[in-house]
Amino acid sequence: MTPEPINSKSICELYAEAEHERVVLWSDSSCGYRGIIAIHSTALGPAVGGTRVWNYDCEKTASLDALRLSKAMSYKNALAGLPFGGGKAVIITDCSDVDRERIFRAHGRFVDSLGGKFITAEDIGTRPSDMEFVRKETSWVAGLPGGSGDPSPMTALGVFRSMQACAMHRWGSSELANKTVAIQGCGSTGYNLAKNLFNAGANLIATDVDPLRLQKVVKEFAATGVAPDEIYSVHADIFAPCAFGGVINEKSIQQLKAEIVVGSANNQLLGDSDGELLVELEILYGPDCIANSGGMINGCRELLGWDADVAKKKIDDIYDRMLAILNLAREEKVPPHTSAERLARKLIRGN
Ligand code: NAD
Repeated sequence: MTPEPINSKSICELYAEAEHERVVLWSDSSCGYRGIIAIHSTALGPAVGGTRVWNYDCEKTASLDALRLSKAMSYKNALAGLPFGGGKAVIITDCSDVDRERIFRAHGRFVDSLGGKFITAEDIGTRPSDMEFVRKETSWVAGLPGGSGDPSPMTALGVFRSMQACAMHRWGSSELANKTVAIQGCGSTGYNLAKNLFNAGANLIATDVDPLRLQKVVKEFAATGVAPDEIYSVHADIFAPCAFGGVINEKSIQQLKAEIVVGSANNQLLGDSDGELLVELEILYGPDCIANSGGMINGCRELLGWDADVAKKKIDDIYDRMLAILNLAREEKVPPHTSAERLARKLIRGN
């Protein structure tokens, strides 16, 4: 989950000022279900977005997460040229002592009530078997067992291609051999990114709060393991956030020695000013809404019936999309995340 800058607004104020088409709260006291679905836009097609399960401290934090993640999905889908809008569902629970079937069937009824305006899939805290429970109540769900499979390897491939594009923009060559990459998070995407980079001849520095996950990357890909709070300041050419959002902020930026930041995490910049600070310090940022779109593109095998080769080719094209945005940002003299956002908004508006 993305850490939040202190926000004193009430939930009603947040919803009122958000540009979202719809935000719906739903509860089912029979099973203790509490969920929020935020639909940012359906201008390009039904809103697609995962269902995140998290033990949010309050509904405001959950709402902020849903608002921000659904907007990021809209931008991601628009920039990838997909016929989908953006949405996100969050379920507020720690999932430790709940009947998953009852929770996810309640969630399925909630999704169904939106009549196809929102299609959901897995996200943090959910697994394919949960989506089968959702499927018992609605057909507006993907990510089922036997569907397009775990999106993480394809997300990581898109991040790898983005990294090559950033290297080309920054150093005039997309070659990553002998470059040092610091990876924060050795989970599903971080592990697969490390594999791609190791095969490309890069040197790796990695961290994870889970020592077993870190050890796997250290062992299999000859990475140097460091403590979680050391990862920002290591001597690396590229920093790859692959754990959670908001990690690029005033404090972490001052520690960075890397010349490029690009990774899988959603909403890596804590605020717009952090993107501007990166520019000031001549650190190139590859916007996450392009870098981590590979998993969503791969999901089109299930959503649009694409075959695996079509999806793979479109994930490969992330290289060109990233390079185009970086060049546009240079021309427009704005941070890359601003160029990406402007282009996405234009595509969504249709002019
Ligand atoms: P994951 O849960 O598999 O991996 C995250 C890893 O980060 C875990 O190993 C966790 O232990 C580690 N971690 C947590 N806190 C940490 C800390 N303080 N320091 C270092 N490591 C820490 O998740 P994932 O699927 O790899 O996703 C990572 C990010 O990428 C998330 O922000 C997710 O929303 C985003 N993302 C993932 C996909 C996908 O296909 N999985 C697609 C798009 C975006």
